[in-house]
Order: sequence, then structure tokens, then C-alpha cells
Amino acid sequence: MLEDKKILITGGTRGIGLATAKTLASYGANVTITGRSNEHETPFDYISVDFLDESSVTQFVERIEIEDFYGIVNNAGINDIHLIDEFPQQSFNEIFDVNFTSVYRILQAAARSFKQRGCDGRIVNIGSIWASSTKAGRSAYCAAKAGVTGMTRSVATDLAPAGILVNTLSPGFIQTELTEKTMGPDGILEVSQQIPLGRLGKPEEIAETVAFLISPKNTYLTGQNIIVDGGFTNV
Ligand code: NDP
Repeated sequence: MLEDKKILITGGTRGIGLATAKTLASYGANVTITGRSNEHETPFDYISVDFLDESSVTQFVERIEIEDFYGIVNNAGINDIHLIDEFPQQSFNEIFDVNFTSVYRILQAAARSFKQRGCDGRIVNIGSIWASSTKAGRSAYCAAKAGVTGMTRSVATDLAPAGILVNTLSPGFIQTELTEKTMGPDGILEVSQQIPLGRLGKPEEIAETVAFLISPKNTYLTGQNIIVDGGFTNV
């Protein structure tokens, strides 16, 4: 399905990003992942970038402009939970830098590169159910992810004439380090009982949906927010 397609996945060192790298590679893609450390042992091509470091981001987007990626998965993300009256400004800024501003910068570089090469590629931005639903303490995360879904709609419209398809995939509760850190074992048990499918999702279940959205098999789906949450936001 993805033979010889060169695909970049940000935040591919673990969790959803790593599962996506493995799944896309199993469909024949030539995968590049990113992470913050200078070196990372991985079977995939690896680029180091820290979305909290302006010079690192600038170097990274310059590289995207000259590379020949067919697909980009904007996956890197962080979360921090505080009530609004206690939210540390630095944490708010970091959530926006990693979850929103980096996506904007990458979309801009990708659009330039794709258009210049006449590449009718695909872009998937990893959002969250918290873009359209919520829970206490998530003000910065909800705002950044809602920003991603809004930006995706507009960028998909910008790039449609060039045949480039751009979507958001919004996961529900997925069993990763991020979830374990933010929810803890008791929180995970409690939320499992509220999910119609009765369990958290697996990173591989997100990866399979990304595989379709990022592939040439997706010919008419663009600007959408695809929610993969075991039915959680419907009840
Ligand atoms: P993880 O915490 O498991 O992985 C996060 C990835 O982002 C890592 O590869 C990490 O790389 C990278 N990263 C973190 N900070 C930075 C930074 N400053 N600069 C560059 N890269 C960074 O996250 P998940 O797999 O759980 O989440 C992936 C995406 O899915 C995120 O966008 C998240 O918001 C979203 N999501 C997750 C849900 C879940 O239940 N897990 C639910 C809804 C959405 P490294 O540490 O190697 O530098």
C-alpha cells in the first residue's frame, strides 16, 4: 500500500509514533522518525529535533523543504494538567510549541516542498478527543489540539488544488507512556469502564488508521477530524 513512499513521523521513538512507524514500514514505506536525543537506536532513518528549541525547529523545517517526503505524520505531543488558575505559563507555552506551533511550521515547509516537486502527498496531524470534548485541567492541551483541527481544515483547503490531502486523526485513550504519566493506573481503570469497547486503545489501532489516511488509497477524504476512541465521545 505504501511501497517506496517516503514518510516522516515526528515523535516516532515510542507510543503512537513508534507503532505508526512499524505499521507504515510493514506496508512498504521508507520511514523517517524524529526524537529529541542526538542519537537513537532504531531501524528507521532518524532526525533529531526539539520543538522547544527555535534553532532546532528552523533547521528541521529547512530540511523538510529539501527532502522528498510523500507523507508527513505530525505526531509529537506533550501534555500537562493543571487547573486554569494554577497553570504554569512555561508549561502552557511548551504545550503550544510542541503540539501546535511545530505542526504549523512543518505544514508550511511541507506545503512548499510538495508544491515545488508537484507531489500530491498526504499529511496526517495527530489531534485528540480533547479538541472537541474536555476534562478539568486540560486548558492548554485542549486549546492546542483544537487549534490543530481548525488549522487542518484550512490547510486542507489551501492544498486541495495541488492534490495534497490533509487530515486530523484524533485518538481517544491510548495505552502509552503519555497516558500512564497523566492518568496513572487508577485513572486508566476508571476510564476503561466509560469506554463502550471496555478498554484503552492500542497504538497499533491508531497506526492502522494513519496508514489509510497517509496512503494513495485515500483519494477523497481531506480536512476531516477522524476520531478513533472506542466510542468514548459518543456516550
Ligand atoms: P509519548 O509521550 O509516548 O511520545 C511522545 C513523542 O513525542 C516521543 O517520541 C517524544 O520523543 C516526542 N516529543 C516529546 N517532546 C518533544 C519535543 N519537545 N520535541 C520533539 N519531540 C518531542 O506520546 P503518545 O504516543 O501517547 O502521543 C502521541 C500523540 O498522540 C501526541 O500528539 C498526543 O497528544 C496524541 N494523543 C495521545 C493520546 C494517548 O492516549 N496516548 C490520546 C490523544 C492524543 P523523545 O522523547 O524521544 O524526544
